[in-house]
Amino acid sequence: MLDAAFFVRWMTAAAAVIDREADRLTELDSPIGDADHGRNMQRGFTAVVKTLEAEPPATPGAVLTTAGRQLISSVGGASGPLYGTLLRRAGKALGEAARVSAEELRSGLAAGVDAVGQLGGSAPGDKTMLDALVPGVTALSASFDAAAEAAEQGALTTVPMQARKGRASYLGERSIGHQDPGATSSSLLFAALAEVAK
Ligand code: ADP
Ligand code: MG
Ligand code: MG
Repeated sequence: MLDAAFFVRWMTAAAAVIDREADRLTELDSPIGDADHGRNMQRGFTAVVKTLEAEPPATPGAVLTTAGRQLISSVGGASGPLYGTLLRRAGKALGEAARVSAEELRSGLAAGVDAVGQLGGSAPGDKTMLDALVPGVTALSASFDAAAEAAEQGALTTVPMQARKGRASYLGERSIGHQDPGATSSSLLFAALAEVAK
């Protein structure tokens, strides 16, 4: 069973990997975006960790809703409300339980991913974060490692896609041949989860 401390460790590990990969995320956002994704994610997750450290929430659900709220209020780009919605909706699904199972985490994240698609009007195949989030959450029913692997593969599948949502869609066919920055950051969130689950 996973307690609130596990979820704080997940968010802390996510912030660390985003810090390490921030330049790469921004580079991916250069040809098909506005070159700020690494910075956006860094700003958001720095705020998340600061808040979680100042006032550690008592339950897994509260960790995720607090993190989601921080992302929404600290990130100006599209990714802030989208990731914020993912975590807030997942946190809400986990309710007030002090501990949750891996299966409850999977179904909570699945609800969060659905909410991202609703907010963004997007679906897998549109060359967005959903192309990593959906396979990642699906593979979570097998293991944390399988989820990380599936999300990474999902991010790679965005390379040949033409973007249908977000800034990259303005480029039309010229968006083809580039990996989506948001799908890449999503795969990092699953990598952080696999790391803390070891
Ligand atoms: P912005 O595009 O506002 O600068 P970011 O660069 O931080 O914001 O985030 C861009 C990422 O957000 C994209 O790579 C994509 O994965 C994701 N994204 C953008 N629009 C949508 C959408 N409608 N649905 C899902 N994800 C989206
Ligand atoms: Mg951007
Ligand atoms: Mg921007």
